[in-house]
Amino acid sequence: MALILVIDDSETIRRQIKSLLETAGHQVVEGVDGIDGLEKAKSVPDIKLILCDVNMPRLDGLSMCIKLKEEALPNPVPIFMLTTESSPEMKTKGKDAGVLAWITKPFADAKLLSAVEKILSRPTA
Ligand SMILES: [Mg+2]
Repeated sequence: MALILVIDDSETIRRQIKSLLETAGHQVVEGVDGIDGLEKAKSVPDIKLILCDVNMPRLDGLSMCIKLKEEALPNPVPIFMLTTESSPEMKTKGKDAGVLAWITKPFADAKLLSAVEKILSRPTA
């Protein structure tokens, strides 16, 4: 069991991911945009993984990750970006900000879950 922060401005997507992760025995905290997600990432203890949308109002996902890296914690939390598109430039910026994987929407539940379990089972996660 792990606590996972899911940040997406689409309530439908948040609900879908939350249901998937809870069925697999995890707990979910939700963020509704980049600003909210950043606050939750900094204030909620014991988050083990962040799943983050790219296109969101107020603050986009990539900028959120960069801010989180600048402002945050000694132990960085792994981040998966969930997106419909990812340019090589975005991937480079994301990598610098702690993004470990880019998962293309729409994603298969089994694929997302297996990526999540894989990262959570790392000794360092
Ligand atoms: Mg979005």
